[in-house]
Amino acid sequence: MSEESNDQPVALVTGGGTGIGAACCRRLAAEGFRVGIHYRSSEEKAKKLAAELDGSFTIKADLMDSETLDGLIKELKTAAGRVDVLVNNAGFNVNAPMLAMNLEQYDKVASVARGTWYLTKLVLRRFMMRKGSGRIINISSVVGHTGNAGQIPYTMVKAGLDAFTKSLSAELVGRDILVNSIAPGFVATEMTDELPEEIQEQILAKIPLGRVAEADEIADVVAFLATRGSYIHGSVLHVNGGMYGG
Ligand code: NAP
Repeated sequence: MSEESNDQPVALVTGGGTGIGAACCRRLAAEGFRVGIHYRSSEEKAKKLAAELDGSFTIKADLMDSETLDGLIKELKTAAGRVDVLVNNAGFNVNAPMLAMNLEQYDKVASVARGTWYLTKLVLRRFMMRKGSGRIINISSVVGHTGNAGQIPYTMVKAGLDAFTKSLSAELVGRDILVNSIAPGFVATEMTDELPEEIQEQILAKIPLGRVAEADEIADVVAFLATRGSYIHGSVLHVNGGMYGG
């Protein structure tokens, strides 16, 4: 498909094959977007989802590897020719206390932030700046604001992502390119299924709504920022059932 052949807006969702990312892909497709489903290892899930969503396509890259991100942009130019919405949803966590965590584990968690920064730069340069409009939605976390024992690198990355949102919005002056974060609380996905039951119960006790979120409840807010919210810029939207009063 050539670059200019399709007038349908395109949304790229990183980590779109699973959990919150997959819910975002479904919701954005329902809003009329052609969805680019990015994945790293969940190929089967991403392809299955693509078969479900009209006009969507899959795209593989590891956020830890900047060269594959350069390749992703080239593929995007060919497959879609435009990116109107970028949802930086991919994230990675290793649960271990400070003294038990090694540098390799730290790097795996932290390099997703580096990859998110680099991918955003590429999408801005190749697509959004040229068009003069776009929406960038970063999925951070409540724990980036509260801290969480056993998740030090992850909380550093998530706090940094919200700072990234604010700093980038300050750079994007006078353009219709809006950047915001959504900071979910505890959402029922594979990532949280992996937490020990005892930790899951402790978290549940801290949620005033008395239940965890469904991925669709995060995707709803993503869709709102992607299609409306025209005066929301540099903000962090807390979607956490009242957890920690966030
Ligand atoms: P998930 O299903 O484990 O999703 C994580 C996604 O990130 C996966 O699709 C994975 O892709 C992708 N990913 C991880 N490392 C990557 C890398 N190096 N390069 C490219 N992609 C990578 O968990 P989730 O709960 O839906 O999480 C989605 C986002 O929400 C994450 O940023 C997470 O931190 C955030 N969040 C989740 C919760 C929660 O309670 N679940 C709360 C707050 C924030 P592959 O599977 O293809 O490898």
